Amino acid sequence: MEVKKCIVCNATENEVPIIKLAYKGQELGICPAHIPLLIHNPENLVGVIDGAENMKGV
Ligand SMILES: [Zn+2]
Repeated sequence: MEVKKCIVCNATENEVPIIKLAYKGQELGICPAHIPLLIHNPENLVGVIDGAENMKGV
């Protein structure tokens, strides 16, 4: 089985809890430290997540 990693910092599930995300038919992982980035500053994920330029931060 593939080890899940954070899409931002590449921390693996062996180091930190990884939250799984479903997006555009892909399964992505993110660590708790980077969840706020996904919520508030998704524009910073352009190039990391395909389509992040269309995501709105709150
Ligand atoms: Zn991370």
